[in-house]
Amino acid sequence: MLDQTKGSYKKRTGLKINPAKTCQPIGAMYAALGIHKCLPHSHGSQGCCSYHRMHLTRHYRDPIVASTSSFTEGACVFGGKSNLKKGLENVFHIYNPDVVAINTTCLSETIGDDIGEIVKATDVPEGKTVIYANTPSYVGSHVTGFSNMCKAMVTHLAEKKEGKKAKGVNILPGYVEPSDMMEIKRMATLLKVPFTMFPDTSGVVATPNTGNYEMYPEGGTPIKEIKKSGNALGTIALGEFSSKDAAYELEKKCDVPATVLKEPIGIKATDEFIMKMLELNGGIIPKELEFERGQLVDVMVDVHNHYHGKKVALFGDPDILIAMTEFVIDLGMVPTLVLSGTPGKAYVKAIQELFDAAKLDDSIVLGDEDLFSFHQIIKENPVDLIIGNSYGKYIAREEQIPLVRMGWPILDRVGHSYFPVVGYKGALRIIEKITTALLDKYDATCPEEDFELVM
Ligand code: SF4
Repeated sequence: MLDQTKGSYKKRTGLKINPAKTCQPIGAMYAALGIHKCLPHSHGSQGCCSYHRMHLTRHYRDPIVASTSSFTEGACVFGGKSNLKKGLENVFHIYNPDVVAINTTCLSETIGDDIGEIVKATDVPEGKTVIYANTPSYVGSHVTGFSNMCKAMVTHLAEKKEGKKAKGVNILPGYVEPSDMMEIKRMATLLKVPFTMFPDTSGVVATPNTGNYEMYPEGGTPIKEIKKSGNALGTIALGEFSSKDAAYELEKKCDVPATVLKEPIGIKATDEFIMKMLELNGGIIPKELEFERGQLVDVMVDVHNHYHGKKVALFGDPDILIAMTEFVIDLGMVPTLVLSGTPGKAYVKAIQELFDAAKLDDSIVLGDEDLFSFHQIIKENPVDLIIGNSYGKYIAREEQIPLVRMGWPILDRVGHSYFPVVGYKGALRIIEKITTALLDKYDATCPEEDFELVM
């Protein structure tokens, strides 16, 4: 399918081929689902909303619900005020959510609808809440949309109760899987640190099949918890690109000190998360986490010969890539190419610093790039392994390179919603996936005399 791709990479500016990102509202919708009894609302045409819901549904394999302002030609010309007002009225009347989280689309942004003014002019039923974020898709990516909606949660919901003693820690998990959010909560619970995590999609898009359809599952962070975030000891924002803006907004609005860390993927980043939690709240490292870390180190020692020195190319979202690049370097692998579709100088700088520290002079980091470029560079400098989302499978097949699926979206495998990649347990899973992919390729292609039972 991609056999015409030539290995002669040149920076393009006027055209993207096979983008390595998707549009802002998808991330905003995913974040909104992490509030309990929240209905995401897309202010734009039905087509945008259908695409966002479909993509989220395919990744999570759970029905994703969202309402839309259903723009037609009239709204495009005269603005979407009446559509949104009527839409909100209908949504509260028919679907009865506690909160509606509005995201904009390219169309409503181009028209210039003022969502704040429209919401002010709408009769929101008593006890119900409306929050909103601007998510124009011609800027940033789905990660930017996620970040904007997290910031909106703080802007519209967080409160500081004067005179109340600061307590607990806010955790902003970043754009990770529900399984990762569950693992972050498990680690925080083991550390005995009182915490509020938002958003939290773990009980919303990875729910058990009970035989009954629940429009609003039990999960998601309750609004009252997000309101309390203004009285915390501190905020830990995991992932600069998806969580930093919300954490700084909370610092500005309620004076809660913010710390921005990497996603806790890999041994170093997980250590940093745990130590920061204890620094903010006090406490000691529990035996369970010490045990899990020890297991991880043991496996790294046991199987390092299979991945040490192997060349790997990674693509995906900046927060995941920064933590993953650090981890694969710690494993002794050689990340020759790290590429994100999301623009961002901070991402390029962070990865370059990791390359410099590991003396990887020939490695390449690219932001705001696409998968066509990724393929061209791999053709010029072949690798042993690709790590990225499902869209990498075409390149992997063409070049006969194993692909470890990681990031967003994963549309052709299962497990990502249920098995974490964060924490020590998650790092163990990443090693398992990397080692299995490399050994499967070896078993399938090695000469008969090298085919071994014990490896
Ligand atoms: S028009 Fe904009 S918001 Fe709608 S699907 Fe396309 S990129 Fe996304």
